[in-house]
Amino acid sequence: MSEEREMITSMEAPIYLKYNFTAGDAASRFLSQVKEGKLVGQRCPSCKNVYVPPRGACAACGVATEEEVECSDKCTVESFTIVYIPIPNNPIQPPYIIANLVPDGANISFIHLMSECVNEDVRQGQRVQAVWKPEEEWTYAMDNIRYFKPIDEPDVPNEMIGKVPVTGWEG
Ligand SMILES: [Zn+2]
Repeated sequence: MSEEREMITSMEAPIYLKYNFTAGDAASRFLSQVKEGKLVGQRCPSCKNVYVPPRGACAACGVATEEEVECSDKCTVESFTIVYIPIPNNPIQPPYIIANLVPDGANISFIHLMSECVNEDVRQGQRVQAVWKPEEEWTYAMDNIRYFKPIDEPDVPNEMIGKVPVTGWEG
């Protein structure tokens, strides 16, 4: 028995994936230190850049990084965006700021939230500091830091962001 069938060329198949992955040596060490309230990066032995969080190797030079450098929880805003989509289970309401932040003592930025700020006043070079959760809530995660808020320090000139330890930082 034969019949003509319409060819199905595509179908919609929504899937939800929940997965765990191995953090690896560098991230494991970093997150263990975050649990102690510290941001510890690693310095490249070749170009001397400090990575936070460390990846165990320098992306530019391709060499292993081992020397640890404890960074301040004060940072400089490298770039930012204003977000209008809410974060599930987070009390921060849109519009809010997501920023690339360079910690004092490091050369590379990481992404985190900003709050306690006027969104329209946020700018490159602005100085911010971490607002940590209560210590008893600390775990192996960067959300031990609730967000970063502006502090009363002079802006870092754009061309100096990530290039030098910042004044006021005792490192
Ligand atoms: Zn390097």
